[in-house]
Amino acid sequence: MKITQGKINELLSETGCEHNSQKHGEKKNKSCTQQAQPGAAQGGCAFDGAMIALVPITDAAHLVHGPIACAGNSWGSRGSLSSGPQLYKMGFTTDLSENDVIFGGEKKLYKAILELQQRYNPTAIFVYTTCVPALTGDDIDAVCKAAAEKTGKPVVPVVSPGFIGSKNLGNRFGGEALLEYVVGTREPEYTTPLDINLIGEYNIAGEMWPVLKLFEKLGIRVLSKITGDARYEEVCHAHRAKLNVMICSKALLNMARKMEERYGIPYIEESFYGVDDMNRCLRNVAEKLGDEDLKQRTEKLIAEETAALDLALAPYRARLKGKRVVLYTGGVKSWSIISAAKDLGIEVVATSTRKSTEEDKARIRKLIGNDGIMMEKGNAKELLKLVKDTKADMLIAGGRNQYTALKARIPFLDINQERHHPYAAYVGMVEMARELYEALYSPVWEQIRKPAPWEVQEQGAGSRGQGAGGQGGQGGQGGISSASPACPASPAPPSPPSCTDAINRVSTPLSPSASLEDS
Ligand code: SF4
Repeated sequence: MKITQGKINELLSETGCEHNSQKHGEKKNKSCTQQAQPGAAQGGCAFDGAMIALVPITDAAHLVHGPIACAGNSWGSRGSLSSGPQLYKMGFTTDLSENDVIFGGEKKLYKAILELQQRYNPTAIFVYTTCVPALTGDDIDAVCKAAAEKTGKPVVPVVSPGFIGSKNLGNRFGGEALLEYVVGTREPEYTTPLDINLIGEYNIAGEMWPVLKLFEKLGIRVLSKITGDARYEEVCHAHRAKLNVMICSKALLNMARKMEERYGIPYIEESFYGVDDMNRCLRNVAEKLGDEDLKQRTEKLIAEETAALDLALAPYRARLKGKRVVLYTGGVKSWSIISAAKDLGIEVVATSTRKSTEEDKARIRKLIGNDGIMMEKGNAKELLKLVKDTKADMLIAGGRNQYTALKARIPFLDINQERHHPYAAYVGMVEMARELYEALYSPVWEQIRKPAPWEVQEQGAGSRGQGAGGQGGQGGQGGISSASPACPASPAPPSPPSCTDAINRVSTPLSPSASLEDS
C-alpha cells in the first residue's frame, strides 16, 4: 500500500466517525486534521498507532524498518498479553544508519526478513515503515512482495511513517493493512451462525479472557480477535463472522465499516467496563445475532453473574460509596469508566473529553449530570486545582500522570494501557473495586500527609519565639520543645490533612507546562 495524500485524506475523513457524519458545512471532515501544537506533547506518532493495532498478533514477527530509536520508542510499552506465542514481544528493527539513508535500505530490509524467517519461523512478518525510509523512498511494498515469494510466508507492509499524522491515524493504517493483506486470505474450517469478531480489543492485562469465557458460556464463537491475543490465521478468517463488535474504540472504525461494505458484516460498538455496559453488550450481541434461544440464555447468564457480583462487591461498595474522583483519560474510556465507577457508588466529579467524539461527550454529560466538569485540555497545575476545587478523593488517569498525583499526595489509579490489572467484564469490576479501595485506603496517605519532622521543628521554634520573654517553659506545655528532626515528640500526631490540604502543601510546585498527555 502506497502512502498517498488521497489515502491519508480518506482515513482522516472516515465517514463512520461521528466527527464527520454529524458536522455540516466547512467543518465537515476537518476534525481529524488538527495540527500539532508547538510545545505540547502530542502523544504517539502514526507508526506508534500502527504498532498498537497490530503487535498483539502474537505469532507474527513485527519488524520496524527504520532507525533503532523508532523501535525503542514503541517497544514493550503496551500490556497486551498472550495465551501462547511470545514472539510479538521481541523487538526487531533494521536499524537504519547514515549509509542506508544515502544508499537506500531496501537490501537491508530484504536480508532482515530472510533472517527473521530463518531464525524464528514466524507465521507472518509485519513490516512497519518509519519516517526515514519513507523520506528516502525505499519501495517497501516491492521488498515485502519479493521476500514473501522467497520465504513462502505472508510479509505485510504497514504504511506508518510518523510524519503522516497522529497515533489514531496510525491505528487506521494498521486496519487498512489487515484489510488489504490479511482478512479474507484464508477460510476457516467451519463456521457457525454465532461467529463474531472483536475489533479494537487488545487484551490489556489479560482483560479480554474473562469476556471470552462469557461468550463461550453463551455458545458464541469469537472467530477473530482484532487483535488482542490473536493468531495470524484467525485474522485471515475474520470475513466469515456474522457480527463485528467494536470495543471501546474508534481506532479501527474504518475496518468495521469497510467489512460491512465488502462482506456485509454489521458492526456495533460496545464496552466491557461496568456492570450495565457489560450487560448491555451481551444483550446487544444476542439481539444482533437474532437467536431467540441465545437471548434467553443471555438473560439467564446476566442474572447469575450480576447476583454473584453483587455479593463480591458488597464489602467494597460500603467503603467506596460517596467517594469523589477526577477522571483524566481519553476517548471512550472517559465515559465507560464513569459507568463502572457509578456501579461502585463513586461519583466522578470531573472528566476529560480529549479525543472524545461528539457521541462520547453526550454520554459523559448524561452520566455526570450538569454539575460534573468536562475538561477539554489540562496540565498538571490545572488538574491539581481541579482536584482541590472539586474536593476529589483521588485521581484516575494514565500512567504519565502518576507522579503529578503522588507528588501532591493524592491517591492515584492507572487506567491506561500500561496498567497491570484487568478491569473488564464482571470479574474486572471486582478487580477495579479492590484497586480503588487499596489506593484510597492505603496507610501511606496517613504517613505522608503528616507534617515533616523539620516542619514540626519550625513550628516549635516559631511558637517558642512568640513565647513571653523567650522562656523555655512554653515548650513543655506545647509538647514540642524537645522535638528533634529524627524524633518529633509531639503528644498527639496531627490528624492527616485532607487531600485538599495535601495539595496546598506540595513543596515542589509542578511546572504548569508539565505534560498530562496520556497515550
Ligand atoms: S515520528 Fe518518525 S522518527 Fe519519530 S518515532 Fe515516529 S516513525 Fe520514528
